[in-house]
Amino acid sequence: MGSAPCAGGKISAIITLQEAVLFYADPDNCLDFLMARRPEWKDGVVCPTRGSKNVAFLKSRRLWHCKTRHPKAQFSIKVGTIFEDSPIVWTSGSLPSG
Ligand SMILES: [Zn+2]
Repeated sequence: MGSAPCAGGKISAIITLQEAVLFYADPDNCLDFLMARRPEWKDGVVCPTRGSKNVAFLKSRRLWHCKTRHPKAQFSIKVGTIFEDSPIVWTSGSLPSG
């Protein structure tokens, strides 16, 4: 086989992605970013299971706890999104364009 494929034109994209990964490696940045993408939570976080607004934010764990008793009373910013079950959260598809 010949030489390795040239990565030439992709270098700037790689740098951008690395910077983005560093940025989103900060959980507070992640939270802000994802909150901005949940307009339904603009006026307050709503329990995704029962739709209750009676929820408390657990700052240390960055989770919300619904005060209504039901399964899955604790939920994260990722609940109900494509990120929910993904160990690799910050794919290029989730990054702001530009
Ligand atoms: Zn609930």
